[in-house]
Amino acid sequence: MAEGDPILRGERECQDCGLFQNMPALAPGDAACCGRCGATLRRGRKDSLTRALACAMGALLLFLVALQLPFMDVRAVGRTYEANLFTGPSMLDQRGMWEISLVVLVTLVLMPALQLLLLLTVLLGLRSKYPPRLLPRLFGYVERIRPWSMIEVFLLGSFVAYTRLQAIADVQVGPALLALAGVMLCLVGADVVLDHDAVWEELEARGLLHMRAAPATDRVIGCDCCRLVLHAPSGWPCPRCGRKLRQRKRQSLIRSWALLSAATALYVPANLYPIITVIRFGSGEPSTIWQGVVELVDAQMWPLALLVFLASLTVPLLKLTGMTGMLLMTSYGSSAWLQQRTRLFRLIDAVGRWSMIDVFMLTVLVALVHMGFVATVLPGPGAGAFASVVVLTMLAAGAFDPRLMWDAAAAGHDLSGVSAPTGGVLSAVA
Ligand SMILES: [Zn+2]
Ligand SMILES: [Zn+2]
Repeated sequence: MAEGDPILRGERECQDCGLFQNMPALAPGDAACCGRCGATLRRGRKDSLTRALACAMGALLLFLVALQLPFMDVRAVGRTYEANLFTGPSMLDQRGMWEISLVVLVTLVLMPALQLLLLLTVLLGLRSKYPPRLLPRLFGYVERIRPWSMIEVFLLGSFVAYTRLQAIADVQVGPALLALAGVMLCLVGADVVLDHDAVWEELEARGLLHMRAAPATDRVIGCDCCRLVLHAPSGWPCPRCGRKLRQRKRQSLIRSWALLSAATALYVPANLYPIITVIRFGSGEPSTIWQGVVELVDAQMWPLALLVFLASLTVPLLKLTGMTGMLLMTSYGSSAWLQQRTRLFRLIDAVGRWSMIDVFMLTVLVALVHMGFVATVLPGPGAGAFASVVVLTMLAAGAFDPRLMWDAAAAGHDLSGVSAPTGGVLSAVA
């Protein structure tokens, strides 16, 4: 029976393999890694909150600039066609592709804005004399929103579109694109300098922790959101972030299977149907993703062809086959390649969003190339299916709990004691 403080200070559950282990004090620049699967548990940062606040403020200012100004313009047949960040989604909507328009607006405008506003509210709130009680909840959303904020992917998609546009007309980069590049650098800076644990510790130190007396239990549970480890029953609200504590993500396997099946079914039309039609001087054929890669090869744009090939064909296939393999092996309780599978999951989770390059490229082209007889770009029916595959595979990876792979293996095999609930190994890497 747990007595006294139910919170186990200095303990941490690895989110990738489920091993509980002790966290040492970290000097700036040090990283604590899981002793079983190698996942990074925490990185030591200097002046984390102040530097992250500076980055977030810079990002928000530049983002406001980017929303106001033109981001690219094209000059052809004596006319200038200008586009801002909203032109592409608006044109897609006019051409009956409101689903893609919505996905672009959410990932390019809504999510980055929310991410910045929430982060700024928390970091500024912590500096105020009376921090609002809502701060822990708000900070809990920052990490969840991050994968859906895709400014860096949009910039790469714009670069591909820019290179393709050069073959059609005189194209100029606008101030919004430069501002957006600044936003991306600030966001990467904020990601690098922000120590999430330091924020949670500060929130706790400012008296925002409200422990509701949990029924006494020996069960040790780690919060998926704020990483607090404590004695509490499953389903009890986390005393730090307020999220319900769960031993594992709820109905993880069934939700992952459902999302993955839908993505696999849509992968077929996404590749069979054209995603884009470029009409120049009255003629032009619709092209599928694969034909787009071949066109880039024919135009001697090798690096671009490779980029689109990797992002639009290889990554979705890796996600579908990799996730299917992981789900099958988990269902059968396999203990083979556990560390490799965990690394594969981390890779799938990290690269999934980059498949949006083609969708963003299409958005930029549709926004700028509507020059009537001279050149027009139209979205194809495959584009909606392709965007759905990207979103569904991201959701499937988010629904999957990689700790289940270790649970399933431990249920049928001896993992040499490494699945013990507490007291794992921890290495600090300089
Ligand atoms: Zn681990
Ligand atoms: Zn929590």
